[in-house]
Amino acid sequence: MIHLDKYLAIRSEVKSYNASLIAVSKTKPLTDILELKANDQLDFGENYVQELTEKHEQLSDVNWHFIGHLQSNKVKYIAPFIHLIHGVDSENLLKEINKQGEKIKRVLPVLLQIFIATEESKFGFSFDEAKELLNKNIHALYPFVKISGFMGMASNTENKEQIRAEFHSLHSFFNEYKSEHFNTLSMGMTSDYKIALDEGSTMVRIGSAIFGERNYTK
Ligand SMILES: *Cc1c(COP(=O)(O)O)cnc(C)c1O
Repeated sequence: MIHLDKYLAIRSEVKSYNASLIAVSKTKPLTDILELKANDQLDFGENYVQELTEKHEQLSDVNWHFIGHLQSNKVKYIAPFIHLIHGVDSENLLKEINKQGEKIKRVLPVLLQIFIATEESKFGFSFDEAKELLNKNIHALYPFVKISGFMGMASNTENKEQIRAEFHSLHSFFNEYKSEHFNTLSMGMTSDYKIALDEGSTMVRIGSAIFGERNYTK
């Protein structure tokens, strides 16, 4: 059961910021996804490769986003169809994505995940590491990836000012690189998407507010 009223409210809120909305459907059944699709939601986010490929087999005419931590050996399973890989957190992973893209002659759109939280458990590049990578001639090195922007997750805290400061720092960093082709800043989920939009997010990833709480965590 999706929360349709909530979904429609969030959708118009996100639209008022000219941002886009990824409905995070992990752990949720295809019936829920189809119900949203019937309401014109076309972008869905998943964070487990196997779950994503199974859902894609059943539903191929939506935009599938991979938002989780991607292991290099699984890139090949999503390369043929993935719309955007949000969480690229190492150059080795970028290399593998390029390799799989080259095999099928498909340029794969990705975001670099930037570590902005204080927790140890979150993946991502530091600002300095990202800078170093972006200073390289990415297009020559990795012609089968297209880096379209950054993704970040704020700390899991009640402290709204801290969350705001983390998003703010990522937005400032994003502005240094922003261009016609580097134009996506993926930040904000159910608990903090309003702050993220205020701080310049162009893409929010929202699960539980739309689909209800997940029964098990992934
Ligand atoms: C699960 C997940 C979300 C959505 O989380 P909600 O709190 O349910 O909105 C967003 N981004 C990532 C990376 C996730 O893994």
